[in-house]
Amino acid sequence: MDGKTPIAITRIRDDDVGKAVREALDLVDAKRLMREGMLVLLKPNLLSAKPPERAVTTHPEVLRAVIRWVKQFKPRRIVVADSTASTSMGTTEKVLKASLIEQTCQEEGVECMPFEKTTRRVYKVKDPLVLDEFAASTLVGEADLIINLPKIKTHDLTRLTCCVKNMFGTLPLGNKSRTHGRFPMINDFCAALADVYSVSRPALTVVDGYLCQEGPGPSAGDVVKLDLILAGFDGVALDAAICKIIGLDTGKVPYLKFGEKKGLGTTDLGAVEFKGEPLENVKRPFKIPPGSPIAGVPMPRVLAKYLANVVFKARITFDPARCKLCATCWKNCPVEAITPPAELKQGNVPCWDNARCITCYTCAETCPHEAIGFKIEPLKNAVRSPLGIAAITTLAVIVALVIWMVIAWC
Ligand code: SF4
Ligand code: SF4
Repeated sequence: MDGKTPIAITRIRDDDVGKAVREALDLVDAKRLMREGMLVLLKPNLLSAKPPERAVTTHPEVLRAVIRWVKQFKPRRIVVADSTASTSMGTTEKVLKASLIEQTCQEEGVECMPFEKTTRRVYKVKDPLVLDEFAASTLVGEADLIINLPKIKTHDLTRLTCCVKNMFGTLPLGNKSRTHGRFPMINDFCAALADVYSVSRPALTVVDGYLCQEGPGPSAGDVVKLDLILAGFDGVALDAAICKIIGLDTGKVPYLKFGEKKGLGTTDLGAVEFKGEPLENVKRPFKIPPGSPIAGVPMPRVLAKYLANVVFKARITFDPARCKLCATCWKNCPVEAITPPAELKQGNVPCWDNARCITCYTCAETCPHEAIGFKIEPLKNAVRSPLGIAAITTLAVIVALVIWMVIAWC
């Protein structure tokens, strides 16, 4: 195998997800990780309470196929666990139901639980980039094998959410939004994602590329029936391969750079041994959200902060026709930048405080009615900022002086 990391790509034909999963796992020889009596933790993506056809959560048939594959190795326990983007207790249970993940686990006779219902411990991060420790489920440390089951989706903030970002879900409920709040700058947040991934690092990843999302993902995007399964051991390399498939430059997904820097994998596809479908044959360009245009661009911190927090800051928009004033957004905002309107009546929308907002996109990810959007207006933002006002005033004074001098001269 000449030291290259293997990635298998298989096509789902006639909706036979199980066959494609089995083929992919065989192609990378995943059975070499398995032994009898293991505790196997399966980590799907359970972002919010949506049915499988909306392509927000890991498809239950992908999960079913992986559970069946694991069972043949006679594990001691198979546990399916995750935590949603919400901060409210009880939300993960709702997601487990709506996504049919709970039903699938019952049918397959395996355990299924929200991370927040398990005991927790503090995990130290080795050589942290920004996050030296965090609290997560004891299952993460106890599992003999973690299998990551992410879904391919575009993401308003990080452009892609798949292998590396999915493990951020091991932080239960509010711990995720607290981490967003602690690292409001996109690059710092992406470094924190790499730190979390280094602790909860899965030995195996099976990517759900069955029903995906493009455009304003990860919850309000358009569904793409990509009909692919990818499997491998290096989550960074898998994310890089997915970037290639969907036409996204890996340099625009900052957590990949941090993952590579931490030695968690490679974005060099020359270091990958592809098996199954050739990468060139499965390309399907996705609509990519603009993300932060300065993410990953090297510049002085003070300038990066100004550009991110002022010039390229997204404005949150609420769609009054969709908003049901359900309170999810103001309950989940980590910095209380959203408050209810003065009157809770249809047609009114929540109030948004630009000064408080850290543009973490949690509100959009958790809005059950897909009523939240974003707008980036760099010119307007620059003109409205104190620096912009000062620049315009200075320019106006110079122009007035020049006109006065011309008049005086004549
Ligand atoms: S914007 Fe969404 S989450 Fe917020 S109140 Fe309206 S429907 Fe609920
Ligand atoms: S308003 Fe939305 S994007 Fe802004 S900080 Fe709150 S949850 Fe995050």
